[in-house]
Amino acid sequence: MTSAVCDACSATINKGGGYAFYSSAQMMGMTVGNMFLCEACTSSMVNEKAFSKRFAPTAVSPGDMAAMREAMNAANAAGIAERCRAHGLSADEGKAKARELARLYWRDPQGGGEAIKKFWTSPAAKAAGSSQASAKSPRSRERRWWEFWK
Ligand SMILES: [Zn+2]
Repeated sequence: MTSAVCDACSATINKGGGYAFYSSAQMMGMTVGNMFLCEACTSSMVNEKAFSKRFAPTAVSPGDMAAMREAMNAANAAGIAERCRAHGLSADEGKAKARELARLYWRDPQGGGEAIKKFWTSPAAKAAGSSQASAKSPRSRERRWWEFWK
């Protein structure tokens, strides 16, 4: 794999770059989950201003793709902010963590993807009461990833 695509704007992210976040936003009954973002989207979606804003869903007319994308990005920005706050991270700290997770992803796309989800959804997610993430993974695997972080 030599590049990735930004989950918010579809820009190309060169190998080694990007930010690995997790959005707890719900869309069509499903959690958005892992989001790989480019530099520009990270700056516009993950900052103190966005973090302090209260998310208010807006009505979008079907077929208005630009408005739809904007509404989705706003929901995801709020979903990402929620995950950062659950870990007690400021916007800058969340960005630093997402960079670290992105580097892990480039080293191991498959395992990295799981580790990204695991970090953002646990253990603070349990306190927030919004995830059942770690229940499925075998214990040995869990420990292996956990050690990886230290
Ligand atoms: Zn982007």
